[in-house]
Amino acid sequence: MDIDEFRKRGKEMVDYIADYWENIRQRRVYPDVKPGYLRKCIPEEAPEKAEPWEKIMEDFEQHIMKGVAHTQSPHMHGYAVMSSGASVLGDMLANSMNCMSFAWETSPACTELEVVVTNWLGKMVGLPSEFLNTAEESKGGGVLQNTTSEATLLTLLSSRRQALSRLTVTLGNVDEARLSSFLVAYCSDQAHSSVTKACRISSVRLHTVQSDEQFCLRGSKLATAIQMDREAGLIPFYLCATLGTTFSCSFDNLEELGPICMKENIWIHVDAAYAGSTFVCPEYRHWMAGIQYVDSFVFLPCKLLLVNFYSCAMWVKDTSVIEKTLATKQAYTGEKKSGYQIDYMNQQISLSREFHSLKLWFVMRSYGAEGLQEHIRKVARLGSQFEALVRSDARFEVLASCGLGVVVFRLEGDNSLTESFLLELNSAGRTFCGKAVLRGLSAVRFMIATRCTTYNDLLYDWDQMQCTATQLLYKHKKYSQLPK
Ligand SMILES: *Cc1c(COP(=O)(O)O)cnc(C)c1O
Repeated sequence: MDIDEFRKRGKEMVDYIADYWENIRQRRVYPDVKPGYLRKCIPEEAPEKAEPWEKIMEDFEQHIMKGVAHTQSPHMHGYAVMSSGASVLGDMLANSMNCMSFAWETSPACTELEVVVTNWLGKMVGLPSEFLNTAEESKGGGVLQNTTSEATLLTLLSSRRQALSRLTVTLGNVDEARLSSFLVAYCSDQAHSSVTKACRISSVRLHTVQSDEQFCLRGSKLATAIQMDREAGLIPFYLCATLGTTFSCSFDNLEELGPICMKENIWIHVDAAYAGSTFVCPEYRHWMAGIQYVDSFVFLPCKLLLVNFYSCAMWVKDTSVIEKTLATKQAYTGEKKSGYQIDYMNQQISLSREFHSLKLWFVMRSYGAEGLQEHIRKVARLGSQFEALVRSDARFEVLASCGLGVVVFRLEGDNSLTESFLLELNSAGRTFCGKAVLRGLSAVRFMIATRCTTYNDLLYDWDQMQCTATQLLYKHKKYSQLPK
C-alpha cells in the first residue's frame, strides 16, 4: 500500500469505525453462528496474488463481522471492556510508530511516558506515594503489563524469590527447590481463576480460604488457615486479595488482612482488575482501606476507564523485587538505572513491548480526572437503576450488587431455570449477559459495559429479560396461560 492509498483508505477506515459505533444498536449483540462457520466462507490457502482493498473490506463485513460479539454495544452486559475514540486514535498513533521500548535507550519517550502515566493514574486512583516513582530515590513505581493474569504470575514469582532469599539467609544453606515445596499462597474462594493458574504454572501450593456471607475475605479466616498450615510445617508467603471480585464485585477486607500478613511476612498482591477504575472517584476509595499494607496493586483501565486492550496498570512498592526475579544479565543496556531511566523489560515476562502508555495519555488528557469521574458515576448510576428494575419483579432475586455497575441476579427456583433463561436470552442476540455461580447458585451477571449505554437501553434490555422469563415460566408450566 503506497502512501496515497494509505491516506485514502485510512480516512475511509475512520469513517467505517465511526459508522460502526454510531449504528451498533442495529446489530445483533451476539452472533448467530455455529462453530466452524468462518472456515466455510474463507479459502483454505492464503492468496497467491494481491487482492483489492474493497474485496477485503467486503469480506470483512460479510464474513468476519457476522461472527463478532459486539462488546461496544450498549446491549452487551457480559464483559466490561470499554473503549473510546481518544484511546483508539492514540493507539493508532502508537501502532504507526511500532516502537521498541524494552529499555530506556530503545525509545526514551516510551519509557518516560510510561513513568508519567503510571504516576498520574496512581495518583488519580488514590494510591499511597510509596507506589509511585516520583523521585530519583523512589523504590516504588508503576509498569504497564498486558493482563492481570500476567501481573498475578509475576508478583507470585517475585515474592517467592524474595521469600526464598530471606529463608536461605535465616535457615542457612538449604536446598532452594526443597524449601520451595513448603511455600503456600492464599486467596479467597471468590478470587479470579488466574490465581489458580499462576500457582499451577509455578508449582505453588494454593490454600483457598472461604469468604464470608458478603463474599469478602476476612482476617479471622486467613489467620486460621495460616495457623493450620504453620502447624503442618508449611511457610506462608503470598496473598492475592481481590477488590471487586469477578462473580459479585465483592471486596476483601485489607484492613484485617494487612496486619496478619505483615506479621507473617506475606506479600499482599491486590487484584482490582474491575473495580480499580472506580477509585478515580473519592467516594469509592473506602474499599481500599488498608492499602498501606499492600505490596503490589493491579487494575485494568481497559475495563471501565475507556482505554482499549491491552491496558493493565501494576504498581509495586519495591520494584527491585520484580527486577531481581526477572532481570537477566542486562545484556542490552549494561548499568542499573534509576528514576525515569528504567528498563521495563526487567519488569515483565516478554522482552518486547508495545507503546501502551500513549493511549492512556490520550484518554487521561482528553477526559481529565473530572470526565473520568463523571463516566464512572454514570456507570454506577445506571447499575443501580437496573438493580431497581430487577427488584421490582418478584420472579427475580438479587444475589449481589456493589453499586458499581454490576448486578448479580437469578430467577427464583432451580438453577436450571436461570441457566435456561440465560441461554435463551443470549441466543436471541438482542441483549447479552454473563454467568456467575455464587455458593452453588447459578446466576446472571449483568454489568454496564459501554460508555454510551443509556437508561432507555436498559429499559429495552429489561423488557427482553421479562419476556424471556415469562415465556420460560410458561413453558415450565408455572403459569396456566401466558400473562400479558
Ligand atoms: C477481569 C478480571 C481479570 C481478568 O484478567 P486478565 O488476565 O487481565 O484477562 C482478573 N481478575 C479480576 C478480578 C477480573 O475482574
